[in-house]
Amino acid sequence: MKKLLPTSTAGSLPKPSWLAEPETLWSPWKLQDGGLIEGKQDALRLSLQEQQHAGIDIVSDGEQTRQHFVTTFIEHLDGVDFENRKTVRIRDRYDASVPTVVGAVARKKPVFVEDAKFLRQQTKQPIKWALPGPMTMIDTLYDDHYKSREKLAWEFATILNQEAKELEAAGVDIIQFDEPAFNVFFDEVNDWGVATLERAIEGLKCETAVHICYGYGIKANTDWKKTLGSEWRQYEEAFPKLQKSNIDIVSLECHNSHVPMELIELIRGKKVMVGAIDVASNTIETPEEVADTLRKALRFVDADKLYPCTNCGMAPLSRAIARAKLSALSAGAEIVRQELSN
Ligand SMILES: [Zn+2]
Repeated sequence: MKKLLPTSTAGSLPKPSWLAEPETLWSPWKLQDGGLIEGKQDALRLSLQEQQHAGIDIVSDGEQTRQHFVTTFIEHLDGVDFENRKTVRIRDRYDASVPTVVGAVARKKPVFVEDAKFLRQQTKQPIKWALPGPMTMIDTLYDDHYKSREKLAWEFATILNQEAKELEAAGVDIIQFDEPAFNVFFDEVNDWGVATLERAIEGLKCETAVHICYGYGIKANTDWKKTLGSEWRQYEEAFPKLQKSNIDIVSLECHNSHVPMELIELIRGKKVMVGAIDVASNTIETPEEVADTLRKALRFVDADKLYPCTNCGMAPLSRAIARAKLSALSAGAEIVRQELSN
């Protein structure tokens, strides 16, 4: 019988301090050339081992080979100039120095496929691979060529589909698209956001997921959250359309967030990765707190469709805290698993 409540993480995990400056986003690499390639693979092995020791069921690369969840993918594409950077407001929230689209975008070679093959060789457990979603990609650069967010999103969707098909062939079980932008640009989500996401998953036989969150625990995000009031109803905007889409799994933020749990009802029928670990706090959840979040979610999602997860990536946390949080996630899921089997 299939294990109930399989645990996973939203994606990124902290990197070792010999590879990159810890607790920092966009942290520069500390190694070069061949040493960097070897270092990234060693970090991936370490990250996998830490997930396994914590008892995580669906494992990932911990995003050890990428500097950032969006820009590292874009960096590998033609048509994007990384020297010519512009400062833009991303997620309508904070300014970041981003690359410029200067010509037709294209994927001349695979981006993460070798990394995925490497992870596949290391474990027989199910593996999940994260890619940026089309809308979040266009929101993390400056477009000086297409001059249309929608047009560029369709181009990226085609490129993501090429990458996803090769990741599937490399043995990835779940391909996840990160779309924090879905929590910000509601009209675009419904006009073309979900449609471009479906283009990105076209023809895939493996499972597909979309991760929508309130971001890493960085100051710009925590300040933004303070402006959102006591009830965060952003998911209400995208969920009805996602419920009708071909996406299999929706990954969302729950623990310590002000998202009303009943919004999960809007995606009834989908598998739900329920965020039971707060990534914006150094406080380690107790297993009982994790179990409590999962029990609340069970009112709106069938047990065989509930996947305990983290609210978002844990890249900016310390390794010790991330490890402890993963162990709490496993222990909390086990409490509820026992309850369900009684
Ligand atoms: Zn996230």
